[in-house]
Amino acid sequence: EPVPAAELDGFARIFGLETEYGVSVTGAGRPVDAGRVAMEMFRPVVSRSRSTNAYLPNGSRLYLDVGSHPEYATAEARDPSTALAQDLAGERIMARLAQGAQDRLRGELGERARIHVFKNNADSAGHSFGCHENYLVRRIVPLPLIEAQLLPFLVTRQLYTGAGRLADGGYQITQRADFLDEAVSSATTRARPMVNTRDEPHADPEAFRRLHVIIGDSNRSQWATWMKLATTHLVLCAIEDAVRRDVPCGAEGLALADPAAANRAVSRFLDDPAAPLALADGGAMSALAMQRRYLDLAGAFAASHPEAVPAGPDVLGEWSCALDALESGDWDVLADRVDWAAKRRLLAAYRRRHPEASDARLEALELDYHDIANGRAYAALLAHGGMRRLADGAIAAQAVQDPPSDTRAALRGAFVRQATQAGARFSCDWTTLRLLEPVAAEATLLDPFSTAADGAYARLMRAL
Ligand code: ATP
Ligand code: MG
Ligand code: MG
Repeated sequence: EPVPAAELDGFARIFGLETEYGVSVTGAGRPVDAGRVAMEMFRPVVSRSRSTNAYLPNGSRLYLDVGSHPEYATAEARDPSTALAQDLAGERIMARLAQGAQDRLRGELGERARIHVFKNNADSAGHSFGCHENYLVRRIVPLPLIEAQLLPFLVTRQLYTGAGRLADGGYQITQRADFLDEAVSSATTRARPMVNTRDEPHADPEAFRRLHVIIGDSNRSQWATWMKLATTHLVLCAIEDAVRRDVPCGAEGLALADPAAANRAVSRFLDDPAAPLALADGGAMSALAMQRRYLDLAGAFAASHPEAVPAGPDVLGEWSCALDALESGDWDVLADRVDWAAKRRLLAAYRRRHPEASDARLEALELDYHDIANGRAYAALLAHGGMRRLADGAIAAQAVQDPPSDTRAALRGAFVRQATQAGARFSCDWTTLRLLEPVAAEATLLDPFSTAADGAYARLMRAL
């Protein structure tokens, strides 16, 4: 079946967020292996699905690879607000798994044992783990253009999407810059690329690619999660539009001489906000100046295609306001929406109250901000209006139950829910639904935008 023209020629997009979490235990009186904790968290998942890889009724994927970083990958969403809700659902699902594991482990480890689940990207042993953004992109966009025109945006967007990190006696605005080394790569294990082009589009491969963005931090801030998806979407739209019309998109000449070095420099923004980033064509430009260029080209695109601007906050207004605040040097203005600024303010306040605070104490406070299971700092900020809230608890709770209604996730979710209720044996991936018992049946969902049940899907559901 051909891809519908509306999907190919318009600016519809699929968004997906994968988040790996770090786990640890305190209060146990002895060290507990993180892998052990993760397995304990996944005990109910394994008993339900006989696997540490499970698709849930909300269309998402819950996964534990070898090692100790449980992962939640959101179902396919058509817009940033839905993706945000699905990501918040992932936090709730992980927190619930942690609570169950904590209750069970307390019998063995004592009543003071606490499980921590960190939505961050670096652990104390110096391991880095990821938050991957997935964007459906039209295949007409050649890969070299992604590196030349999108990567400078992704590197400098860290100014307002970075999650911040106490590192080497200083404070960086990102978690991962020091761990990423290659710009665009198809390898996943050896080097750590910033954008991965491994070709698994989970859609019609003739029409689409799935852009797999690895450079970003995990965010607690809802604003930051939403903004990273919304701004990246608009920049991708501008690039796609220019390729289609065979005109310049406005990002010409911004290609970075050394993207990994630029990423590390941006991460050290607080040391030198005007640091020049070397350009491939010989010039140099500050990260802020580069972001202004992208804001301009996104604004020009949005003016001629208002239908492609995501619903929700005013993305261009928010973007412009964030750049102004970064430029002014009054970074506390951003402390209610940008994770690095929120944590920086938190750490500064703590230091003022406790001038003798040790590095270890400050690191513990930093970690607490990321802890979705037993953390207090972020929850307190949110409860008292110290962090912007785009989606309330009811929306997140709903997203734990329900898949996005306007993508194939709706079909997957319905299948998983019914198959689970029926006690059937089944398996899924993003494009296939497979019933193993009581009878064998299978349906393929190649079009991520489509919620239309075909004959095979109808037969599959009838077999339940
Ligand atoms: P890894 O964990 O090894 O990085 P991966 O990135 O290939 O694996 P998953 O962890 O399974 O894959 O996550 C895939 C993500 O891509 C999900 O969030 C999903 O919603 C999203 N996705 C699925 N199909 C598409 C598509 N056609 N375009 C964009 N995103 C998609
Ligand atoms: Mg993944
Ligand atoms: Mg991934």
